[in-house]
Amino acid sequence: MTEVTLKAIHKYYSGNIPAVKDVNLTINEKEFVVLVGPSGCGKSTTLRMIAGLEDPTSGDIYIGDRLINNIPAKDRNIAMVFQNYALYPHMNVYRNMEFALRLRRYSKKDIDKRVKDAAQILGISHLLGRRPREISGGERQRVAVGRAIVRKPDVFLFDEPLSNLDAKMRVQMRTEIHKLHLRIQTTMIYVTHDQTEAMTLGDRIAVMKDGEVLQFDTPLNVYDNPVNKFVAGFIGSPAMNLMNGRVIKKDDKLYFDEGGFRVKIQEPMYEKLKDYIDKEVVFGVRPENIYDKLFASDATPDNTLTVLCEVMETMGSQNYLYLSTAKHTMVAVVEASNKPIIGGRVEVVFDMMKAHFFDPSTENTIV
Ligand code: ADP
Repeated sequence: MTEVTLKAIHKYYSGNIPAVKDVNLTINEKEFVVLVGPSGCGKSTTLRMIAGLEDPTSGDIYIGDRLINNIPAKDRNIAMVFQNYALYPHMNVYRNMEFALRLRRYSKKDIDKRVKDAAQILGISHLLGRRPREISGGERQRVAVGRAIVRKPDVFLFDEPLSNLDAKMRVQMRTEIHKLHLRIQTTMIYVTHDQTEAMTLGDRIAVMKDGEVLQFDTPLNVYDNPVNKFVAGFIGSPAMNLMNGRVIKKDDKLYFDEGGFRVKIQEPMYEKLKDYIDKEVVFGVRPENIYDKLFASDATPDNTLTVLCEVMETMGSQNYLYLSTAKHTMVAVVEASNKPIIGGRVEVVFDMMKAHFFDPSTENTIV
């Protein structure tokens, strides 16, 4: 059993502001869980407590049903891959990979098999004789992963392992880590501030802010049903468009009124919004749920508004349109063939079935 459980974990470094606050998570055996959130939200601290590199101020950590709070890092059978790789510069790749096994007095034969197997999995067999300075950043990262694999740990921990790589290598290594997980089927916990990495790698993702886990769910559930405005804005790229306005009722129908435009809210959302009639709300719509009217099949006067198209970014397969009303700016992701006149007015349609509403003071999701 290599399930990892965190129960009511708090961590104070000094003073009375917690770095980690009441974190409760169960990471299932063989699961890939990503801790994601902005810098300083407590991701690394959480990971380091699992590794045994920091002690929780209170709370319990279990691997399977074994309480590990008082078990030293070296006896937890956990391997951690760091952002800076932490390779020994004077040792070649083989020596780097076998180092931990030699310390643990594995037999020469066993070491050789483990190093060669790991090197083969990672496609670095041809680099075993080289020193870290003689290989590329991506290759160094593979060696760092290889050094973790040879130990056959119960749990892998990754702390921003790709952030020192260039954009292309980052995407490539992301896929490699994904494949590695499919192949070795070991529990993995991965820390990143990059929501794309979280979305693409995680079986489940824990979105953190100010030391707390705000939401722990599959990437798609977090994307479709964010628990609050922060999660809604943090997960997804380009980010969800958020606009302040009011809910108004007219002829038994509910509308979102921004001040400059008014769109009809869909009936299934009425029940949850009934306490917000004539009150302020934050309206959210994802960039892919905004269409140029010329390309929309379901435009009606109730879901269409006129905006200014300020900038277009051509992504190849899509265009990003930067649009504005008198009060708000928003971005729409549209087809590559959809090219409105820059600086001109354009009619856009909101897919109101995909609208989100948040309470402006608590920032929690209303619907
Ligand atoms: P993240 O990994 O999400 O960027 P960290 O876990 O590194 O966040 O940090 C969480 C909070 O704890 C931050 O406010 C950070 O400044 C603080 N912190 C982290 N490490 C230490 C430390 N060794 N001593 C004091 N404060 C720390």
